[in-house]
Formats: sequence, structure tokens, C-alpha cells
Amino acid sequence: MAESSHTKSSLRLASKIAIVTGGASGIGKETAHVFAEQGARMVVIADIQDELGNEVAASIGSHRCTYVHCDVTNEDQVKNLVQSTVNTYGQVDIMFSNAGIASPSDQTVLEFDISQADHLFSVNVRGMALCVKHAARAMVDGCVRGSIVCTASVAGSNGSMKLTDYVMSKHAIIGLMRSASKQLAKHGIRVNCVSPNGLATPLTMKLLDAGEETVDLIFGEYKRLEGVVLNTKHVADAVLFLVSNESDFVTGLDLRVDGSYLDGKSELV
Ligand code: NAD
Repeated sequence: MAESSHTKSSLRLASKIAIVTGGASGIGKETAHVFAEQGARMVVIADIQDELGNEVAASIGSHRCTYVHCDVTNEDQVKNLVQSTVNTYGQVDIMFSNAGIASPSDQTVLEFDISQADHLFSVNVRGMALCVKHAARAMVDGCVRGSIVCTASVAGSNGSMKLTDYVMSKHAIIGLMRSASKQLAKHGIRVNCVSPNGLATPLTMKLLDAGEETVDLIFGEYKRLEGVVLNTKHVADAVLFLVSNESDFVTGLDLRVDGSYLDGKSELV
């Protein structure tokens, strides 16, 4: 862990306790690293991929990061994740509710498979709502002026030629964030979304059945910011802004990290 170049006071998350769901991979993994680099006292990674989650925690270092198995669709497990974090570290300052899945990309509304959609909603909507609920309760109970960030997507504010269930789920997350931000403002708790455009992670590589370079090329077609290929660090840095004191008066925002994505150009979202 490269801490040496920073003085303690320059670190943006000095002494914060953070939970990152879906932290074993992709955007969550990158964000866990960024949180730790920025001085978070502890980053608790929650995921269902135990081997990968433990590897990420070990690569960050046990003094800064730990892994907890938590299926976000299971309320008892989410409650336990938050409660054990409070019991061990005293409080939860940051909840990055990021765990999510996608279905095969050929789902137009004509082909819509409701059981597949149910599974996707259980992770992307139910799981996200449970993480917001239990993190917010812990923050309120502990009088913590915390920050909650949910990973939505550009799919949360655009229609799609395919991906019907995924698009529905991401719209729901933005609705959740908008309501929670209004309801929790009186407690000093901020709730925002980060909404990336497509980028190469295991989720999209599986969805498109392609390797990282091919996925970058596919999404590159839809990038508007010349010369930039969206990567996990871009997203993690946007999340860092939303959980740091620099965004102290920012709540209810859907922060799009999309290189000026334009409606309707993509075959996907
Ligand atoms: P990823 O597959 O690399 O990471 C997702 C993580 O969530 C995995 O580690 C997975 O094990 C975990 N997860 C899945 N189901 C879970 C469950 N029930 N409980 C706990 N953890 C679970 O994918 P990613 O691209 O990093 O996705 C992170 C988030 O970003 C998702 O919400 C996704 O919808 C969103 N997103 C991704 C893109 C993209 O193009 N990659 C774009 C916009 C939004």
C-alpha cells in the first residue's frame, strides 16, 4: 500500500470506515484500493466471491482492509455486515453499494424472461435497497454524518435496445437514491449515485462474451471523450469525490462518468 507520499492530513478519507459491496472485482475492487490509499481506517469488502475478496483484502493489507462474505440479497447477511463493522470499528462512515449483475444482452421486451429478471432485481434492486437501509440505520443510530453511494449506470436514465431488466433495475436505483437523499438529509447523511458508461470488467466481459481489449473496442464506439477509454479508476475517483468532504453539500446527485454519452447511439444502453 503506497502511503508514504501522503501526509496524514492530505488523505481524503483519513480515519473513515468504509464498506464496499462487490469489492472482489471490477469497480468495487478498484474503489477499495482507492479508499485505502486515501487513508480509510478500514475498508470492509463484501462479496460472494470469497477467494477473490480475500485476495483483494490481502493485496491492500490486513491493517487497512478485510473481507466479509455477504450476499446482498439476504437481509440477515447485510444486517450482519453492517452490525459487525460497527461492533469492530465503531461506526460506518461510507457505504459504497456497488454489487450488481447483468443478464444476457439479448433481452428485448418481447423476449423478457421474468425469472431471469427476478434474479437480477434481487441483486440490483433488493440488494442495493438493503445496503442503503442498514447503512443508513447505523449512521442515524451512531449520529454519523455518513455518505452512501450506489452504483447505477447510464442505463439508469436511458432506454436500451436490449438489456430490458438491467435498465429497469438501474432506473430503480436512481429512484432509491433520490428518495433516500431527501429522507436522510436531516440526519446529515448524503446519498448519491455514480453512473458509468460501459467499461471492461468481468461483468461486461461475461455479458459480451469477449476479452478486455475487445470490450474496450466495443464500448469505445460509444465514447464521446476523444482519446479516453473509460476504466475502473475513472469510476473509483468519482466515487472518492462523492464520499469525501469535498462533496459535503452534494446529495441526490446521479454523477455520470460517461464521457458525454449521447442517447440512443449504443446498441446496448
Ligand atoms: P464485476 O462483475 O467486476 O463486479 C461485481 C461484483 O459484485 C462481483 O465481485 C460479484 O461477485 C459481486 N456480486 C454479484 N452478486 C452479488 C451478491 N448477491 N452479493 C454480493 N456481491 C455480489 O462488475 P462491475 O462492472 O465492477 O460492476 C459493479 C457495478 O457497476 C454493478 O452494479 C454494475 O451494474 C455497475 N456498472 C457496470 C458497468 C460496466 O460497464 N462494467 C457500467 C455501469 C454500471
